[in-house]
Amino acid sequence: MVKPTAKKLGRNAPCHCGSGRKYKDCHLLAEEAARSEQLRLRQAQDTLLPKIIEAAQSVPDQFPPAFDRFWQGKYEYGVEQMEKLSTVEDRGSERFLTWFAFDFRQADGRTLVDQLDDAVEIGGFDVDPFERRLLSQWRRVRLRPYVVAEVRKGKGLSLRDLLGDAMYEVADHGASKRLAPGEVVVGHLISADTAPGAEAPTYYLAGAAAQLTDDTAEKLLEFAELHLADLRRRVPDATWDDVVDQRSEVLNHFVIALPQEQRDPTVMERIIAEGRIGLQLTAESVAALLGRTLPSDDE
Ligand SMILES: [Zn+2]
Repeated sequence: MVKPTAKKLGRNAPCHCGSGRKYKDCHLLAEEAARSEQLRLRQAQDTLLPKIIEAAQSVPDQFPPAFDRFWQGKYEYGVEQMEKLSTVEDRGSERFLTWFAFDFRQADGRTLVDQLDDAVEIGGFDVDPFERRLLSQWRRVRLRPYVVAEVRKGKGLSLRDLLGDAMYEVADHGASKRLAPGEVVVGHLISADTAPGAEAPTYYLAGAAAQLTDDTAEKLLEFAELHLADLRRRVPDATWDDVVDQRSEVLNHFVIALPQEQRDPTVMERIIAEGRIGLQLTAESVAALLGRTLPSDDE
């Protein structure tokens, strides 16, 4: 946790670093600058995302193929359909637009975020220096699944990457009220500011994320592993980053196949079975591609 040293320390008090000098002659200015930078980056996060989503609206010819991939053909692209999706699928149009901006590759192979970041150089996308810094970092952001590890109600939460165990501290007051430990978030985690004295940046959920009940984590991982195994048939050292870089939309396919009303484990078994058939994989081949041995029958 970060101690708000500067606020409590008087200007003429001895500096907290133990230098023996007064605070105002030692660490005060640097800490004020760090706080102001943190604030500007946090503001940039709020202003940059709407700019990106607005830019997405300027390439509507790319919507139909992207729509088809994200919704797995379940919906056909249309302006009316986009509006309906906000209710039919929880914040569906917003979830689609966020994925479209961060994950979908345009005709030239770059994502929209890549294109916008490159366009800044030639004056094609108007951002301030703080937004610029974030935009460059956001090129690597993809849709990923996270498990809620801890919730600090009204403050934030800790998310664990379901595909790799990294932990992230997320400042999202709304999400901290809606989510409980063990539940799953399928969304875009973006870094923005780093609190003064903190070791890691603060993360935020960009746009809309799908929220799943706590019975889904294991099955979603199993489903995602089919896709990792599938990639490894061609590229033996493929990683989770490759999976989300090449086909993060499959995570949404899992989400939209889930029942909306009540829990149903048979549905998840069916999603996995269908995924295995679609990818022409067997339990044995998945285990082999992931470097695992299957438990033998006589144990
Ligand atoms: Zn000092």
